[in-house]
Amino acid sequence: MAIAEGSFGTDIRWAFTDRTNGFSAVPFDSLNLAEHVGDDANSVRQNRSKVSELLGVDVDAVVAMAPIHGNRVGVVTSTTVSPVPNVDAMVTTSVGRALLVVGADCSPVILGDGVAGVIAVAHSGWRGIEANVVAATVEAMCDLGAKTDEMVAVVGPSVCGHCYEVDRVRFDATVRSATNAGVVRRDGTLGLDIRRGVMQQCRALGVRTSSWGGCTYEDPNLFSYRRDHTTGRHGAMIAITGPTTGYLASTSSKH
Ligand SMILES: [Zn+2]
Repeated sequence: MAIAEGSFGTDIRWAFTDRTNGFSAVPFDSLNLAEHVGDDANSVRQNRSKVSELLGVDVDAVVAMAPIHGNRVGVVTSTTVSPVPNVDAMVTTSVGRALLVVGADCSPVILGDGVAGVIAVAHSGWRGIEANVVAATVEAMCDLGAKTDEMVAVVGPSVCGHCYEVDRVRFDATVRSATNAGVVRRDGTLGLDIRRGVMQQCRALGVRTSSWGGCTYEDPNLFSYRRDHTTGRHGAMIAITGPTTGYLASTSSKH
């Protein structure tokens, strides 16, 4: 199920998922994490529970969002009701809440500062790159006490440039915001690699950035909206699972 899991410092846990070993039936088979795609709500809850348990968090503490491909950031507290509407990113300092971001070609992104005890998720496709949703997210994290030189970001799978042809107008608009997103495809047409663009935007903010997963369109173990249309969403979940321990967390997060 989890294609990657790890921690930022001692008290921040996260996991990225693929579509395998979940409870949902065709065409959402099987580890669909999204409520809005037409899947059975109980199956989604079982799937989310499987991931939140990995992090040591109860499924009722999971907060999802209803993205609109913009750059608004929601601040999550202990009383926030899921899903948070009209945001493409969420930040929190709340211990025990898990932030969920899902995608099926757009990149799910997680960020954390283990010293300040601030975590975030963001969802970015080409519109998110144009609106620079990760910059807005990092700014919201800094408002809560995080510092870019203590932050770590992991950018999850997206559709690659060879599987995602775009016209010149969309290509130019996206590449203006992140040159690395631009791909000249094998037949000379233009494509966008979303993950590469998002990673460039994270690094431009001074955030240490890595990535997980392959191309959503090519990997049958990932959901792809472009490939399957009616389908589920994989994603990432991150939570602060204990009191952040200041400088100790900083030291361990450097490894
Ligand atoms: Zn591809």
